[in-house]
Amino acid sequence: MRIGVPKEIKDQEFRVGLSPASVSALVAQGHPVVVETQAGAGAGFGDELYQQAGAEIAGEAATAWAQDLVVKVKEPLPAEYDFLRQDLLLFTYLHLAAQPDLVKALLAAGTTAIAYEMVELNDGRLPLLHPMSVIAGRLAVQFGSHFLQRQSGGRGVLLGGIPGVKPAQVVILGGGVVGTEAARMAVGLGAQVTIIELNLDRLYALGDLFGFRVQLLHSNSTHIAEMVPQADLLIGAVLLPGRRTPTLVPETLVKQMIPGSVIIDVAVDQGGCVATLRPTTHTEPVYTKYGVLHYGVPNMPGAVPWTATQALNQSIFPYLLDLAERGRDALAPGTPLGRGVNTQGGKLIPAVLQELFSG
Ligand code: NAD
Repeated sequence: MRIGVPKEIKDQEFRVGLSPASVSALVAQGHPVVVETQAGAGAGFGDELYQQAGAEIAGEAATAWAQDLVVKVKEPLPAEYDFLRQDLLLFTYLHLAAQPDLVKALLAAGTTAIAYEMVELNDGRLPLLHPMSVIAGRLAVQFGSHFLQRQSGGRGVLLGGIPGVKPAQVVILGGGVVGTEAARMAVGLGAQVTIIELNLDRLYALGDLFGFRVQLLHSNSTHIAEMVPQADLLIGAVLLPGRRTPTLVPETLVKQMIPGSVIIDVAVDQGGCVATLRPTTHTEPVYTKYGVLHYGVPNMPGAVPWTATQALNQSIFPYLLDLAERGRDALAPGTPLGRGVNTQGGKLIPAVLQELFSG
């Protein structure tokens, strides 16, 4: 199967669908790869590395998009909708729950689109969301500590404090992959950390992981109302797979936060869990509402493309190879890849998405 890798066009998105190492492995298995020129430059992978790996370099996006299987990082943007077509297999992050226009475009074109974030193992784990969630969780604390600094607009609080002066309070909504990694980083920097999680088994697992170093609270409106106003840094990390994120923090609670505190809603890609948060970009990552800095960049790992591209590739590779070898036969319902199929033949496939867009 011929594989195409277009350059990402989302604002400041420097990741690329395939690393030179993946290209080399695919070419060795007999799958020609066409990479748009400069597609990997922002991640530190110049055209010459792809050529050495055996790729053809295409001067235009259209050539990469014309291949049988297109491997990307982010969802197609409106400028790319004309490249969608019926016999195209598209493998990328889609997050369709928050993208009604893209749903229309994929259905109209009849494209078979497989969403990384919905490829699901039999035990419910999401192996292709996992690496980006690890990165985004860690970055949430890096960015949070940056925006808490006075010159960045924050209230001037050092996450770890200092003996004699209180550390920052970091409140994390959702203790899955993003929440756990954010907590690890915040604990490492000496902050006082609370995780608010709904799933009791998960809460106990977090207890085993962090011991008494992290306050663990069951997710309910009372705990949220108690903790959010105290947060210097509030991190949104909730996920209901395939669905829109529930709004857990209403506007009234944001108004009670301390001026100069920071919200980083990592879950923004599925709609976000804070009422006052809207998506932002790496170019303009924050805005202030009720004195609180709001950060809602849906492609946070794009900030560390060298790390993120390789992390993504090591996870997607076995699935990608299977797709390249077997084509649509690799998408049988009830298999991990099959569960990732979001659109096919002009239809929405996952029940959660059918429900969401049926109205
Ligand atoms: P995950 O499934 O590992 O964790 C989500 C957690 O939320 C689960 O533990 C679940 O029990 C919990 N949860 C569900 N409802 C809750 C509620 N009402 N209150 C508290 N907790 C609740 O998911 P993840 O991999 O950590 O991803 C979290 C979000 O971050 C997703 O929306 C994902 O797409 C997003 N994400 C964003 C970026 C970015 O760049 N912005 C990058 C990676 C992931």
